Amino acid sequence: MRTPLIAGNWKMYKTLAEARELVAGIRDGLQTCFGSGGREVEVLICPPYPLLFPMAKAVAGSTIKLGGQNVHEEPEGAFTGEVSAPMLKDAGCSHVIVGHSERRQHFGEVHDRLARKVRAVTAAGLTVIYCVGETLAERDAGQTQTIVDAQLNAVLGRDVPADRLVIAYEPVWAIGTGRTAKPQQAQEVHAAIRTRLADLYGKESAAEIRIQYGGSVKPSNAAALCAQPDIDGALVGGASLVAGDFLAILKAAAAPRAA
Ligand code: PEP
Repeated sequence: MRTPLIAGNWKMYKTLAEARELVAGIRDGLQTCFGSGGREVEVLICPPYPLLFPMAKAVAGSTIKLGGQNVHEEPEGAFTGEVSAPMLKDAGCSHVIVGHSERRQHFGEVHDRLARKVRAVTAAGLTVIYCVGETLAERDAGQTQTIVDAQLNAVLGRDVPADRLVIAYEPVWAIGTGRTAKPQQAQEVHAAIRTRLADLYGKESAAEIRIQYGGSVKPSNAAALCAQPDIDGALVGGASLVAGDFLAILKAAAAPRAA
């Protein structure tokens, strides 16, 4: 049984004071967010680097976990401006996002580099959230599955432990645009991703790997997306910056799935 993972990707937002206020709001709301009989939900926030240590303090004693938004592939070295997986672990992170489309697009991150980052994360004993997804032009050209398969095949491998792996399917055209994939549209890609994971890890292990959806997830669409059989939570950008919205998404993810 897969526990849905709702992860807030704060991107380059929030000062320390704002971050403290946001986490306090999430912590308060968590007390009453989950009704009885719902599914368990794992909660993760991924703040910018300077906020990791204070946010580790802010979430202490709660069920909220902490993640990094990016990582360097080496454990240490002369790489000005970079942060390593052991450093993220030291700061209290349990998860790291790798391959977000904004990293691919604005920072030129390519498969080979992402493959090394993924291994650096799991080697440090952390869980990697590896992002995949097609652009609008690729979807319109009917290439969604080819692109996603290539992103999976080039980066994953049997040396990436299945129990340290989460996939985030994020169609690039839906990130920060207000456009969301229809639940059925997303489900089709998620099911195909699981089939690809089964080729790699076997059916049983693939059935345990969480595949999150990401792309303009908000309170109004979270329930329908999370109700899909192969959608195991969400990677949330904009809506994770507002406590009430993030809590509403957590609540939607906790709703029991129809049998
Ligand atoms: C993201 O940052 O991964 C994301 C999906 O952003 P948004 O929810 O704002 O589209």
